[in-house]
Amino acid sequence: MVQLNIEKGIKELLAKVEISTLEDTGKYDELKERAIRDYATSIGFYAEHGPLFDPEGKYLCGSCCFRDGQTACDIVSGTISMTIGSCMMWRIGEPVGLKVKQKLTQIESMYSERSKAKAFGCSRCEYGGKAKAVDSVGRPSWCSYWGMHIVPFACCFREDGKDLVEAPGE
Ligand code: SF4
Ligand code: SF4
Repeated sequence: MVQLNIEKGIKELLAKVEISTLEDTGKYDELKERAIRDYATSIGFYAEHGPLFDPEGKYLCGSCCFRDGQTACDIVSGTISMTIGSCMMWRIGEPVGLKVKQKLTQIESMYSERSKAKAFGCSRCEYGGKAKAVDSVGRPSWCSYWGMHIVPFACCFREDGKDLVEAPGE
């Protein structure tokens, strides 16, 4: 029952967020931000630590545990670049050699390449930037996609940028 109330509350918060600006106004509601961050973490691939967090803030296929050699991936189809590619399934680690019956397409996995930035993550995402003020735990950046404070080296894989090419192999 408590879980249902939390889910209902998050849905109500997001409904309000959708009709209000997500830009950094300099006036913050940390309780609302926390609910949004929890939502972004549980369903949106946002992480500030753990296997979905890259301490280097780059999130490239070359450091993902699903990489397979230099041009392929265990779980995403097509030609994959270790130096300019990434997708929302990114997970740090040594290659695990996972075998799946059906790989995700590059569109399904949101596989993209950034030929100029050669990296992904909040610090180079067009939705991310320096916050007008840090939050109570010192997060220095703001995300205008989610409407919350973020840490610069995090990533939710909705990054965008002028050099970004989506699903180049499909
Ligand atoms: S395409 Fe995605 S899952 Fe595959 S190696 Fe790159 S980041 Fe990892
Ligand atoms: S700045 Fe970009 S990558 Fe970071 S949380 Fe926001 S949308 Fe996601």
